[in-house]
Amino acid sequence: MNHTTSRPESLGLARIAQDLALLAGLWLIAGCSSGPSKSADPGVAEDELLVLVAFDGFRWDYPDRGVSPNLATLEARGVRAEGLIPSFPTKTFPNHYTMVTGLVPDRHGIIANTMWDPELKTGFSMSNREQVQNGAWWGGEPIWIPEERAGRPTAPLFWPGNEAEINGFRPTYWLPFDGSMPNADRVDWLMDLLDRPVGERPRLLTLYLDETDLAGHDHGPDSPETLEAIRIVDEALGLLVRGLEDRGLLSRTNVIVVSDHGMIPTSRDRVFFVDDFVNLDTARVIDWNPVLALWPDEQHQEAVYRALKDAHPHVSIYWKDSIPERFDYGKHPRVPPIIGIADDGWTITTRPYYEEAPIRADGGNHGFDHEARDMQGIFIAAGPAFPSGLRVPAFRNVDVYPLLMKLLDLPAAPGDGDLARVGGLLAD
Ligand code: AMP
Ligand code: ZN
Ligand code: ZN
Repeated sequence: MNHTTSRPESLGLARIAQDLALLAGLWLIAGCSSGPSKSADPGVAEDELLVLVAFDGFRWDYPDRGVSPNLATLEARGVRAEGLIPSFPTKTFPNHYTMVTGLVPDRHGIIANTMWDPELKTGFSMSNREQVQNGAWWGGEPIWIPEERAGRPTAPLFWPGNEAEINGFRPTYWLPFDGSMPNADRVDWLMDLLDRPVGERPRLLTLYLDETDLAGHDHGPDSPETLEAIRIVDEALGLLVRGLEDRGLLSRTNVIVVSDHGMIPTSRDRVFFVDDFVNLDTARVIDWNPVLALWPDEQHQEAVYRALKDAHPHVSIYWKDSIPERFDYGKHPRVPPIIGIADDGWTITTRPYYEEAPIRADGGNHGFDHEARDMQGIFIAAGPAFPSGLRVPAFRNVDVYPLLMKLLDLPAAPGDGDLARVGGLLAD
């Protein structure tokens, strides 16, 4: 895909008639006889925009490494939490989707990046576009759906869930995930949408950047490569903020930067080999590391469980219905019968996989216990809804959803989040 020429015009725009009606209405209200322009834009002048930015794997302490000036400016203008506490498992898809639905993974159904559904009799992985675009996987209702239902276009660029039709709606503007799309093009794509006429212009937009996750995995959270990745995603935030400023939109835009989880160093000295204990022909491995998800044939379940239960002091093995309550995990039908959770910094793998590339266990990872400090991400926000210079304690990422719904002035669906826990972040 050529991103420099990729424009939303090429996407499915489902509500042209509706938008035209809205456009006509807004012009009438504003008494405007000329076409809309960037600077004199009558219809949405009072509207606040919401731009949600995700830095994948951006740990709670990265903002203090001195290489993210744009994040520092945002923090000074607004609010910063000491951390954003992820939900279990601390993986990308489960946590991005939690932040936009207010449900923990066990309830929204994206219980891992890689899953098996016993009713659909189908597997899911992040790179399987057919399944990522299949609405049957995505429970709850992400923030862009009620916004679309209300007749306003949304642009959740690359936010997990954005590619699927959910409850009969999908975002007006979306692209299939393409990790190679340059960050500047991602920002341009959003800015082009903001240059559209009233009615076609979204007020809810998201931006997703993953350099910090990739560098954290390959080189560890304390590496020079991760420092460079922090600089890179911060630079993209700078482009976004300048883009808003150039359009005269910054003062009425709430910009919220979050991350899905943190990163913990792994080591070749902290590895658990499943195949030392279990014949993997008897147990289908749905997911590996650091949360082992095993679906053995009925007749092998007991034997597999017994073989693994006390196999290693740094890997806890559970039947799905006896996972400790604080994980809030194990009720969803997609959680397989046996779950193994590695201690922080440990790797679960097999001998052949490890021997092929031992370096794999010598970088960083996430997915671990959500209560680990270094699994925490960030929450930094500024805009008309936020006071400036406020620092608050870490809070749970299920509470991001009711906050976003409040900013959109839409009723939050009941779930695991609670505005009462985060309402103090807002001005007045
Ligand atoms: P993980 O570290 O396994 O939790 O996954 C993070 C990786 O998922 C990132 O490096 C991204 O490249 C990739 N990713 C993020 N969003 C998507 C998406 N919507 N579709 C496919 N892959 C994605
Ligand atoms: Zn992630
Ligand atoms: Zn990752």
